[in-house]
Amino acid sequence: MSSPAPLLDVELVTLFPEMFDSFLRASLLGKAIDGGVVRVNRTNPRDFAPGRHRQVDDSPYGGGPGMILRPGPVAAAIEAVEAERGRAHRLLLSPSGRLFDQALAGELAGRCRLMFICGRYEGLDERIAELFADEVVSIGDYVLAGGEMAAAVLIEAVARLVPGVLGCETSTVDESFSAGRLEYPQWTRPPTFRGLAVPEVLLSGNHAQVAKWRGLESLRRTQARRPDLIERHPLTEHETMLVQGGPTQRRRRSPSER
Ligand code: SAM
Repeated sequence: MSSPAPLLDVELVTLFPEMFDSFLRASLLGKAIDGGVVRVNRTNPRDFAPGRHRQVDDSPYGGGPGMILRPGPVAAAIEAVEAERGRAHRLLLSPSGRLFDQALAGELAGRCRLMFICGRYEGLDERIAELFADEVVSIGDYVLAGGEMAAAVLIEAVARLVPGVLGCETSTVDESFSAGRLEYPQWTRPPTFRGLAVPEVLLSGNHAQVAKWRGLESLRRTQARRPDLIERHPLTEHETMLVQGGPTQRRRRSPSER
């Protein structure tokens, strides 16, 4: 009897498949792969490059520094993968792509097959984007040496939203960005550490007070650290009421305002 299809099927097209070795073995993602919930295949365009030297790059037309990944081996790798295992939603990693965020992670978690096309050197021949990319995605306004770490970021953010990957299904509900806010601060034992005590309300056992306090802290932290999120997601009626209700338990400067 064949094993059930994974809930998330990932294809990596990369010149450095070994970069993912420990990443794919560790922690929750490693367990999800062992349990068949997530499957990851790695394909190297170099295996599709012609000639004895299997050269995958060449100098840019028009001149300039560095080398560009030739389109042929990358196209052949993508086509071989899909001929064997079917069409995937193809994401090309590039600093000039759409900025990755939690909303995109949620969208991608709803798809069964994702392909990550990783560039290297000065990037990929533009025809790969034109012919193959369903989306071009960046993980931030900085330049990495290759798309592998960017792909790892996307895989981890997406995989943890797939049912069965996280131990506790509710863990993704209340966290940062889930409602355009940063998560409230959290503490665990001991109750006092190096002179700093846990806010009393969290020890009170009063769930309604705890929820109210957390809502306010989440809002304060977002206002202090990421005012852009408040601009994009204005205060809800409930949040306005929370703010107007004033500070709850403030034993010292709120951690969210530090
Ligand atoms: N010359 C390119 C430019 O200025 O946009 C940068 C190429 S970068 C050195 C090589 C590869 O790393 C890219 O093709 C892409 O796959 C990956 N990469 C670099 N920064 C990235 C980022 N912020 N997000 C996603 N991928 C990135």
